[in-house]
Amino acid sequence: MQDHQLFNRPLVEKYDRPGPRYTSYPTAPQFHAAFAEDDYRAAAERSNADAEPKPLSVYVHIPFCKSLCYYCACNKIITHNTERAAEYLAWLQQEIRVQGALFDETRRMTQLHLGGGTPTYLSNDQLGELMASLDAAFHFASPEEREFSLEVDPRTVTPEQIHELHALGFNRLSFGVQDFDPDVQKAVNRVQSEEDVVSLVHAARQAGFQSISVDLIYGLPLQTVASFDTTLDKIIALRPDRIATYSYAHLPELFKAQRLIRPEDMPPPERKLELLELTIRRLTEAGYVYIGMDHFALPDDELSLARKNGTLQRNFQGYSTHADCDMIGLGITSIGKVGDTYSQNVKETAQYQHRLQEERLAVFRGYRLSDDDRLRRDVINALMCHNRIDFAAIEARHGIIFRDYFADALSELQEMADDGLLAIRDNEIELLPAGRLMMRNAAMAFDAYLAHSTGRYSRTV
Ligand code: SF4
Repeated sequence: MQDHQLFNRPLVEKYDRPGPRYTSYPTAPQFHAAFAEDDYRAAAERSNADAEPKPLSVYVHIPFCKSLCYYCACNKIITHNTERAAEYLAWLQQEIRVQGALFDETRRMTQLHLGGGTPTYLSNDQLGELMASLDAAFHFASPEEREFSLEVDPRTVTPEQIHELHALGFNRLSFGVQDFDPDVQKAVNRVQSEEDVVSLVHAARQAGFQSISVDLIYGLPLQTVASFDTTLDKIIALRPDRIATYSYAHLPELFKAQRLIRPEDMPPPERKLELLELTIRRLTEAGYVYIGMDHFALPDDELSLARKNGTLQRNFQGYSTHADCDMIGLGITSIGKVGDTYSQNVKETAQYQHRLQEERLAVFRGYRLSDDDRLRRDVINALMCHNRIDFAAIEARHGIIFRDYFADALSELQEMADDGLLAIRDNEIELLPAGRLMMRNAAMAFDAYLAHSTGRYSRTV
């Protein structure tokens, strides 16, 4: 795909507005406390009773970091006291035992993601203990069926440790790079050398990691088109399998850490669009395929292949190639998706420990989907993963007449159609190349809750 097809500046400007990322539908602001532990247990029981129970996917949140990146909007705990992590790990293992008892032993865990915070805040020995507990509770699938990934902060590991992580069973890595420019790194308090990142990526290749991903952020303080171009040069030369380029949302009134960024260092809004345009051009010229949202991948990467053959999935971590799984969230703030429910763990470590001390689950809110929610989730997934809604397929799965049921959404989408961003045909809606950056805008037309939502969302482009 050519960048001029993907990036149309006047249209990007016109449609750039706050909107959900649709890692779930309904989105988290709809979760409520009336959905409690018993509802989660009941959902797990129902999922075991499915004719063919789904494989399990596990997300583990490790909230600790050694220093604060000023752009950070994550749920994290900044500390040098490694005792806190040891204590957290002990409670995590308790949660793993309690949750493991809910799912049939015959089910297999095919997917794992460790996020944070900084998962590599834990030592490799601690990560080894965590893996052993997860295997005992959720039963790892055979190595060839597994997609086990973790986020790596390059400042916290050595090349030797990367080899050990592979030996522990991880086969995918993502490195948080953000930007190589020294001034930008200083402005956001995340200084890491290019040499270290290069040697870690080489170590990951030697160790046999199947997929190596690099995260970048555009819109950071002091970033210029020339400085980010240099970062992109260096990343492209490293040839990671996947590149995620996140747009920095500067919301200092919401995130305390961001108040440490000097307002005068922030790039003007038009520079952010230039940085996005540059990123798309450089990555597509270098042979990367645009997957959707913030993600690019090499043409032979599983994500690109899944996008091509229509098996791409979307989950809380972004895009995935794995079949629909029941997702178990472990650790503070984690979100799970079991059967037709979503659930979220408490956000504070004290509450988390208190619940587990009482042998309870850490779930404090959630949501059970209605038939209408399931239908809209299916439609939004089709748009976000396949850029196409096949009316007949949706009608067959949900027993509706698409054009009648979604008459309002279709009329709302007419403006995007008139702008050449999507095509509304007799039997389908297709996102056209110029509309792919605006897929969230199209998805928003099918969101029944958005008009009344109090959620605060990042901008759609
Ligand atoms: S960006 Fe990542 S490493 Fe930095 S403070 Fe936030 S969670 Fe920690």
